[in-house]
Amino acid sequence: MSFSDLGLLPELLRAVAERGYDTPSPIQVQAIPAVLAGRDVLAGAQTGTGKTAGFVLPILQKLAAAEPGQRSPRALVLTPTRELAAQVADSARAYGRHLRLRTFQVFGGVNINPQIAALREGCDLLIATPGRLLDLAQQRAVNLASIEVLVLDEADRMLDMGFIHDIRRVLRLVPEKRQNLLFSATYSDEIRALAERLLRDPVTIQVAPRNAPIELVEQRAYRVPKEHKRHLLVHLIREGAWTQVLVFTRTKHGANRLTQQLEGAGIRAAAIHGNKSQSARVRALEQFKRSQITALVATEVAARGLDIKELPQVVNYELPNVPEDYVHRIGRTGRAGAAGEAVSLVSADEQGLLRDIERLLKRTVPVVPTPQFAIAETAPLAPAAAPGAQAHATRGRPNSNPRDGQSSQGHSGRGRTGAGGGHRRDDGRKAAGTEPRRGGGGGHWRGRSH
Ligand code: AMP
Repeated sequence: MSFSDLGLLPELLRAVAERGYDTPSPIQVQAIPAVLAGRDVLAGAQTGTGKTAGFVLPILQKLAAAEPGQRSPRALVLTPTRELAAQVADSARAYGRHLRLRTFQVFGGVNINPQIAALREGCDLLIATPGRLLDLAQQRAVNLASIEVLVLDEADRMLDMGFIHDIRRVLRLVPEKRQNLLFSATYSDEIRALAERLLRDPVTIQVAPRNAPIELVEQRAYRVPKEHKRHLLVHLIREGAWTQVLVFTRTKHGANRLTQQLEGAGIRAAAIHGNKSQSARVRALEQFKRSQITALVATEVAARGLDIKELPQVVNYELPNVPEDYVHRIGRTGRAGAAGEAVSLVSADEQGLLRDIERLLKRTVPVVPTPQFAIAETAPLAPAAAPGAQAHATRGRPNSNPRDGQSSQGHSGRGRTGAGGGHRRDDGRKAAGTEPRRGGGGGHWRGRSH
């Protein structure tokens, strides 16, 4: 199957080829003809499956078919986050570069006036987060009466973030007769209810997450008491000479605190989460991409839609509550054929979460012995420690200090063997990182040049 078999316009095929894609992904094979045929679509697909092109390409084609009128938007994509909105818009511009269509994105957290001004110029495809879109509609800066296609992207995430009321309000502003596409990584009862209300006789598409990340990512976990995690992370970054690591925390507050702690240890770090202004996030991301900061500390939601490719290391500082999020997170590494590492720091209270993840992956995540690491409260080791210096022979306290070890997990008093010697458990499956994943998914669509 090639892109030219999907009935796409030559202008779109050219843009796709220029992006370096030669084989459509499974979701693209199924979604593109369905959307072109005017069908509603319910798609179970995660980031990394190529879902964006799956709806953007056929939508551009439909928009190109009609002469642009006064340029009220004719297609609307709702996304949960600003980052995803920007990313979808970037894709639409890239795929639409040989067509005369205008794409515009709007999201909150930035000044509304430039968006009002830009909308006045008109656009064909509008990508929006729900809240800002409603503000703009209220100010009569945008008219949704010409919408022909509505997409809810990452619908599960939008519901998680409490956007259901906003979505309902948007639905009241768009014409009754329209085409609807709903993309969601997971199916909760809420999603099913939304799909039932929204979709008419939909084509249902379910694709497994792209298998490449799982196969290409070398996963490992360390058991470590909660209060030692930051010290172990500092150790791993230094010992591994990591230069670009994306670290996931569960909360915004946790992201801020860890960022400060890393900075305190002499590691350049920045946090990226929903409380940060758009400009602060963009700046942090840019610095990270340019390797000016070593660690980007992110919450799950903020990291969605970040377009970072070929990330060498991802760290689950805290395991996600939802196992699917683990797959999303580690999918950030090992992209485009490059091998990546996903490291999870697992405290005793997270064992159950790890088991849930393993059940989803249908494989174990190898737990490797925790190395010895220093517990330096404030004074950081110089980033370039003397060669051969024993990690905890310098300013830090040994990590086996009973005070720190007094966690509920009973790791105290392990002497100088430290965390590693104390609770090592190597399940002997080191090679699991290269095992083929059972029940795997995506097929051979990774059609770039490799
Ligand atoms: P998405 O799931 O839409 O976030 O896309 C995941 C990544 O796959 C993005 O970096 C896309 O640029 C890339 N991609 C999308 N379609 C293809 C394709 N057919 N071949 C290779 N890469 C693709």
